[in-house]
Amino acid sequence: MNTPRLTVIGTGYLGATHAICMAVLGFEVLGVDVDQAKIDRLASGEVPFFEPGLPELLAKALESGRLRFTTSFQEAAEFGDVHFICVGTPQKQGSHAADMTYVDASVSALAAHLTRKALVVGKSTVPVGTAARLTALVKELAPAGDEVELAWNPEFLREGFAVEDTMKPDRLVFGVASAWAEERLRAAFEPVLAQGVPVKVTDLATAELVKVAANSFLATKISYINAMAEVCEATGADVHDLAEALAFDTRIGGRFLRPGLGFGGGCLPKDIRAFMARAEELGVGQAVGFLREIDGINQRRRARTVDLVTELAGGDVAGKRIAALGAAFKPNSDDIRDAPALDVASTLHRLGARVTVFDPAAMENAKRVHPELSYGESALDAARDADVVVLLTEWTEFREIDPAAMAAVVAGPSIVDGRHALDPAEWRAAGWEYRALGRP
Ligand code: NAD
Repeated sequence: MNTPRLTVIGTGYLGATHAICMAVLGFEVLGVDVDQAKIDRLASGEVPFFEPGLPELLAKALESGRLRFTTSFQEAAEFGDVHFICVGTPQKQGSHAADMTYVDASVSALAAHLTRKALVVGKSTVPVGTAARLTALVKELAPAGDEVELAWNPEFLREGFAVEDTMKPDRLVFGVASAWAEERLRAAFEPVLAQGVPVKVTDLATAELVKVAANSFLATKISYINAMAEVCEATGADVHDLAEALAFDTRIGGRFLRPGLGFGGGCLPKDIRAFMARAEELGVGQAVGFLREIDGINQRRRARTVDLVTELAGGDVAGKRIAALGAAFKPNSDDIRDAPALDVASTLHRLGARVTVFDPAAMENAKRVHPELSYGESALDAARDADVVVLLTEWTEFREIDPAAMAAVVAGPSIVDGRHALDPAEWRAAGWEYRALGRP
């Protein structure tokens, strides 16, 4: 069969990356979004978020003539053979469940114009059962009816490594209902599969579950070591050494076993909550009830970080100057969705502290959502006259701070290393009082 023409519906972190990479790999791609401003920026060669390597690839893709952008679902339906759904599935207000408004709206808008055989492929992270529900919706709305099929291809990319994860992922998962859908997906990933990337072909429900099961496992690993940090704090033991010792056991491994302020972002927290909500609907809430504790451990790390800052500030942060290093939920990203860093910074602000934030990439996003906080021009600028410095996102440039240079600008050399990113011996030798979660 012919090489499929692709549309990518929803051009945020996931969709823009997918659209750009697929065009670079040689496909004709049309990116679709309801946000006209975002579409205009992408079409003019500007990636609307921070992602290393992506701006260069966008320029290359636009130059090739294989990548275009639109807000028209009719154009998308006429153009595409395989349509990737990449819209957001945030946590619903006042509930743990996923908000499916955007998925339903985008699939409905596309389906209304589907007049010929096509494959609609969900990439968004969704509650298990969504593909089956959307299959019925598409068959009802599409003029081509039964000619249109649904498939699920969950996405595992990591922000900060999105390009390499898209070009050469660890694995691809194809949830399909027919041999035709599998063939179309294989064709839509042909250059990726040609590199030897393994593919797991399965049913729709299993494909949906792979994503939430993977994120639940990763969240559990992080919260596991952070639970050990709580125990270390009660005993004077050192969770950093504990984690290193555990990591030698290849059955456990060291990745995602780094203690600290815990996880955040637009995926892990809302994905484990949506999984709990969906499992409860299915009558198997007990099976994933442990995720409530995983979430709780994660939230307690944020509170504990605030406590450590308060201790270093002499028992009360009111009126104290605090330098908050980091705003993004992780380094190499400007994403501040459910960012532990900003959670800690705004809690300190609410407690009366004068908080100055610096982040290498997320300043614009942080200022928009947290106008109540102050912002510095650099790490050193944020630290000027600070009573306490708190490191909240482990950017490389924070790891490389010269403790003596920072000691020269602060009011008092006290630091909370919320990410175990610094060498305590080096900082203490430069005169700092150094504290970290789970370390004596
Ligand atoms: P995002 O908020 O950055 O992007 C979503 C995009 O969808 C926005 O540009 C928005 O304007 C657009 N949109 C909303 N409604 C639309 C509609 N009706 N039609 C067309 N476009 C519409 O979100 P994201 O981070 O890219 O995440 C998207 C999905 O991918 C989520 O389900 C997320 O859980 C999943 N995911 C994200 C990542 C990641 O690292 N960001 C990784 C794996 C999976």
